[in-house]
Amino acid sequence: MTDLHAINKAAEAKTMDEGAFPAQTQQPPGLTSEMTPLPDHGEEGWVGRDRLHGLKALITGGDSGIGRAVAIAYAREGADVALSYLPEEESDAQDVKKVVEEAGRTCVLVPGDITEEAIARKVVDDAAGQLGGLNILVNNAGFQWARREGGLADLKTEEMDRTFKTNLYAMFWMSQQALQYLDKGDCIINVSSIQAYDPSVDLIDYAATKAAINNCTVNLAAELGPKGIRVNSVAPGPIWTPLQPATKKAEDMPKFGLNTPLGRPGQPSEMAGAFVFLASPLEASYVSGTVLGVTGGRPVF
Ligand code: NAD
Ligand code: MG
Repeated sequence: MTDLHAINKAAEAKTMDEGAFPAQTQQPPGLTSEMTPLPDHGEEGWVGRDRLHGLKALITGGDSGIGRAVAIAYAREGADVALSYLPEEESDAQDVKKVVEEAGRTCVLVPGDITEEAIARKVVDDAAGQLGGLNILVNNAGFQWARREGGLADLKTEEMDRTFKTNLYAMFWMSQQALQYLDKGDCIINVSSIQAYDPSVDLIDYAATKAAINNCTVNLAAELGPKGIRVNSVAPGPIWTPLQPATKKAEDMPKFGLNTPLGRPGQPSEMAGAFVFLASPLEASYVSGTVLGVTGGRPVF
């Protein structure tokens, strides 16, 4: 008999059996191969059921973490995918491409710094061009900086610029550019955070972008609803991805994610179900303008 809890058990075991994560640090954007332990992206666990058959998806930040888990799940559900990422993450992107192609799907690679407007727009055009269309845009790329000593007094303009441009400007530019390709039944999925609801003192600028993403999601859902295009957002809780060791203090890693009712951080593989559901024209046909929390039990209202 199939064990219906197999995927979650694998992810939970990966997080719990290793004990607390060791203190560790990387420079942004961070690489998967340098993480201890390696995250679980559903490489072994995700079983596709053809829920996204023939669809074409662009996933920003699709090389690693949550985006990688989404790319793998989408491919196994029958979608072709394009991955946007920074050029220095090429090795991560190549690893994802291999898994996507093993699933029998196309994987288009579109590296480039999407804090530059021209590049952000070109990434969308190149992805749609090479995929032969676009049905799903996942605005997942994100940046935060949490190695500050003095709270607001220590907030630097260049950190704010990078955070706002990556999380917000790029979402606006890429969604705008995608409008010419998206049609009835298609969708946009933004990535918010538990930080939109319960902001941490050392993430004041990042948390503000995530609250703004939720507001924009509701607004864009209202605008695009009449065209049959759905817009939603996913709010992750603490998930074990390169973003964490690359932007937080080394000593914060051992306690990462222990402040959830489930008592542990989540794995990227545990995020994929929300993204598959929201992308599915059949299963989420009447779901728009909402935020789906995947937080280990922390509230998103
Ligand atoms: P991640 O580091 O694996 O993914 C973030 C990706 O953003 C990077 O891989 C990179 O490719 C992309 N990116 C960043 N700056 C870019 C730029 N200038 N140009 C192009 N691409 C750029 O980490 P993740 O945790 O999987 O992050 C994915 C999303 O999830 C982010 O929006 C993040 O804010 C959000 N999130 C993560 C957590 C968590 O605990 N990991 C919690 C809440 C929300
Ligand atoms: Mg990455």
